[in-house]
Amino acid sequence: MSTTTAESTFRNRLDRARKEMARTNVDALILSLGHDLPYLTGYLAMPLERLTMLVVPRDGEASLIIPRLEAPRVTEMSSVFSLATWNETDDPVALAHKLLGSARTIAVGDQMWSRFLVDLLKFRPDAQYVRSVVVMEALRSRKDATEIAALTAAGAAADRVAAQLHAGEIPLVGRREAQVSAEISARLIAEGHQVVNFAIVAAGENAASPHHHAGDRVIKHGEIVLCDFGGTMNDYCSDITRCVHIGEPPSDIAEAYEVLFTSQAAGVAAGLIGSSCAGVDAASRGVIDAAGYGEWFVHRTGHGIGMEAHEDPYMVAGNETPIAVGHAYSVEPGIYIPGKWGMRLEDIVVASESGPMPVNHANHQLVVLDR
Ligand code: ZN
Ligand code: ZN
Ligand code: ZN
Repeated sequence: MSTTTAESTFRNRLDRARKEMARTNVDALILSLGHDLPYLTGYLAMPLERLTMLVVPRDGEASLIIPRLEAPRVTEMSSVFSLATWNETDDPVALAHKLLGSARTIAVGDQMWSRFLVDLLKFRPDAQYVRSVVVMEALRSRKDATEIAALTAAGAAADRVAAQLHAGEIPLVGRREAQVSAEISARLIAEGHQVVNFAIVAAGENAASPHHHAGDRVIKHGEIVLCDFGGTMNDYCSDITRCVHIGEPPSDIAEAYEVLFTSQAAGVAAGLIGSSCAGVDAASRGVIDAAGYGEWFVHRTGHGIGMEAHEDPYMVAGNETPIAVGHAYSVEPGIYIPGKWGMRLEDIVVASESGPMPVNHANHQLVVLDR
């Protein structure tokens, strides 16, 4: 975790979490795997069979239950939480039960192993369990200035890789998708990411599968190549999609790309404070529908992004959540013709009082390459 985040930031976040708990009538918050925990403590739990759990009673001191052998990895912050270490022969769920005191309504992190929740249910069959998103969404979805700076830096690093792709520095023709994916991954690291989260490379008809897994398919001249990649840099994620065409695109692809370009810009422009997440989706989808490609745009327009590559809020029909200052999300419409080709164009955008601020600025056109 970042060592630059100050203890006061975590204390402040925990105070806000307690206010949300009061507002939503949650008595205690329990977090394990996933990113709510590092958001509040700076500590990311490894996906172990041993229990790590932050217990936050609304009116009491927070405790981080941690296996003794993991304790050295925790940066202690006595004004934020105390450590409750357990030994190999202890029952950590019994410890959690004790720390929960008289809590009746308990908010549980999405990624806690079910084995621990099932065991806790035995101790507290009469408690009410809700998802931690009830408490945490309001905090995590609205990024502060430090978080926006981190997202902007990660986005700029991904942009540099996109620029390298556009400049023809990453050879495509004659290589397998997986080779190109590996090269993009290495370049993400070289540009400052610590972790690569994905590097989709999909050529020709493979691009019609939105989450295609780069494989042995050899890239040929005359094809569209969709590249969707991102990683984590200083705890915050990047995510960008650009398509290139090797040789001049045929008219059907060129025409569809114009529609895609207009659709993506419309989605970005719709991200005004107070308008809805559904409205961003509708703006992008409306352009594609009007041009007759609607049935080939098979996914929502975007997702929130932050410490996780996909998080709230989602840009999808039915999500009437108003766009608020600090919301960070993707706008990534696509058109996918099964068996033929696919295309997607994606930027990350941060909502602000002065309008949507795109994090990504790499060329938005269908760049034509010759190799
Ligand atoms: Zn996706
Ligand atoms: Zn993406
Ligand atoms: Zn995305």
